[in-house]
Amino acid sequence: MRCTFWGVRGSIPVPGAQTAGYGGNTSCIEISAPGEPTLVLDCGTGARRLGGLLLARPEREVHLLFTHFHMDHLFGLGFFAPVFVPGFDISVTAPAFHPDGPRDRIGRFLNGVFHPIRIPDLAARIEFDSIEPRTPFQRGPWHVRSFTLNHPGGACAYRIDRNGRSVVYVTDTAPLSRPGEGLAGGGEPNGRERQLIEFIGGADLVIFDTMFTKAEYLQKMTWGHSYPEYAVDICTLAEVRKLALFHHAPEASDDVLDALGARWADHTAPSIFVAREEQTVDLEG
Ligand SMILES: [Zn+2]
Ligand SMILES: [Zn+2]
Repeated sequence: MRCTFWGVRGSIPVPGAQTAGYGGNTSCIEISAPGEPTLVLDCGTGARRLGGLLLARPEREVHLLFTHFHMDHLFGLGFFAPVFVPGFDISVTAPAFHPDGPRDRIGRFLNGVFHPIRIPDLAARIEFDSIEPRTPFQRGPWHVRSFTLNHPGGACAYRIDRNGRSVVYVTDTAPLSRPGEGLAGGGEPNGRERQLIEFIGGADLVIFDTMFTKAEYLQKMTWGHSYPEYAVDICTLAEVRKLALFHHAPEASDDVLDALGARWADHTAPSIFVAREEQTVDLEG
């Protein structure tokens, strides 16, 4: 089981010299195993590169999981090559937060106005599905569960398990407690945090929204994003092996992210790294 980062930014793509090292594309992660259908976590602008690579592989089955439909997680779908190719079999799964299902919601973007192509024009065979929080489901060889997060309009985390290996994708979310209580208040985890710790428990890799510093979070508590110390507290209690700091702020230059990585370089349980575009983590090792 391997995890490759194709987009690590939040909010908006930020190409340019200041961000060339960690990459400027927005959220998109590939989960793969040799000979197995690819699982894609979110379709931010990073999905464009991944889509081109999938065309060159023999598998024609692809599974897309959306945490939510903010544009930084959706924009790449209109440039994800497999959806335009006959013979591809694609599933699209999103949380059931809204009475309109994923086909209707994505159709407001792929509608001929905001993008030249409409959903009925796509050549691949595409199935859309809504899932309820915490109900396990299967996509190809991947066992998946979800967990409701703390984000404006809703978002959900996904845990993917296969053959004893696991990845958990936790974005976009503010802490599940507030200053003065729970882990965000420097105390013991509250009820929802205990549920999240159980959900994450023992994962080989957790990818966590750390868009803000703690000081920024205190200024923007309703924006729905976390900070590194919070992710570290959750993942330490959950006995996670590796933690990827993710959903970097558009303003976070390579220098800022290098300094963030250096600050956590000596942490061992979990080990901590700053997610970088085109980086692959092999979870079998
Ligand atoms: Zn986002
Ligand atoms: Zn969002």
